[in-house]
Amino acid sequence: MEFRDLRAQYERLKPRMDGRLQKVLNEGKFIFGPEVGEFEARLAAYAGVQHCVSCANGTDALQLVMMAWGIGSGDAVFTADFTFFASAGTVSILGATPVLVDVDPRTFNLCPDALEAAILKVLREGKLTPRAVIPVDLFGLPADYPRIEAIAEKYGLKVLEDGAQGFGGKIGAKRVCSFGNAATTSFFPAKPLGCYGDGGAIFTNDAALDVHLRSLRAQGRSPEDKYDNRLIGMNSRLDTLQAAVLLTKLEAFEEFELDAVNQIARRYTGLLGDSVVTPYIPEGYLSSWAQYTILLRDQGQRDGLKRHLAGQGIPSMVYYPRGLHQQTAYAGFGLTDADFPVTSDLARRVLSLPMHPYLTEKDTQKVASAVSDFT
Ligand SMILES: *Cc1c(COP(=O)(O)O)cnc(C)c1O
Repeated sequence: MEFRDLRAQYERLKPRMDGRLQKVLNEGKFIFGPEVGEFEARLAAYAGVQHCVSCANGTDALQLVMMAWGIGSGDAVFTADFTFFASAGTVSILGATPVLVDVDPRTFNLCPDALEAAILKVLREGKLTPRAVIPVDLFGLPADYPRIEAIAEKYGLKVLEDGAQGFGGKIGAKRVCSFGNAATTSFFPAKPLGCYGDGGAIFTNDAALDVHLRSLRAQGRSPEDKYDNRLIGMNSRLDTLQAAVLLTKLEAFEEFELDAVNQIARRYTGLLGDSVVTPYIPEGYLSSWAQYTILLRDQGQRDGLKRHLAGQGIPSMVYYPRGLHQQTAYAGFGLTDADFPVTSDLARRVLSLPMHPYLTEKDTQKVASAVSDFT
């Protein structure tokens, strides 16, 4: 059994996939070939926004948006403590200060109350200027945008949605990557929509930001004259081959993959019953199930279950064994577990089970029985 089975996916999509890749090889336009623009247009339409700018990965996507917003030294950018490092690391790279915020114990996403408290604390201290908030759609579940956007507006902050794990999710009819002033995603192979290498994209309804980002991803070149570099930019492009992969995978994602993972999640939750804490999906929310993550009683039970599953050939992962406040790179912030009680607790109790659109009913049952037997 695979934790995320990319081989089964390739076998299913092979005829379409190979045809598209062959076309790119025949045409030889490996950088900014026609598939890149076609994919950007499809992505924008799927997310329900006006502009999509592809780039080299989800980390660059976050960094490019903050560069365009002029975020740097002296600025505070708020993000979740329980997330992948890039949500905060990109803030630090630009010389700004990531302000970590504890998460909600049920959704594992940025807690709006803790966000407002953190903003007020920064304002009270008067050393940093609050500029933006980066909510993360952890494990595929959209963050609480209705409340976060209201708080951001109250304090004049921009909202940058980190949708690296959330692509395909929804709140009501509104899709992930359409929230905030801009949104980003990642096409790392294991994400809900992944390619065969690295890739990323930025989404926005802001036409001026779209132009700015297209320049910043290409060495800051001018839209009119490509040998006039007006800004200091990056080199961050989505390869044509990856765009071809993604065009094929986006079709499958829309046709059946997103439904399949939701069906598997419902099956897991039904089978697991009360043996463990199963994922909480608020009313009106749809997850794209980047992870199906359960909560065990304590670290001992979690680590024991992980070994028990491994003994039966079932892979499982701990996302994440530590919060950002526990990262060595941020030791200088002097933050303690007492400042982040929810993240610190989750890091000891979470376990992610195999989850992907090609997981069979039999394997889902095998995983659920192995978990129930142990707990
Ligand atoms: C994967 C991920 C990123 C970074 O994406 P890359 O494409 O690997 O650079 C950023 N934020 C979150 C929450 C992620 O899960």
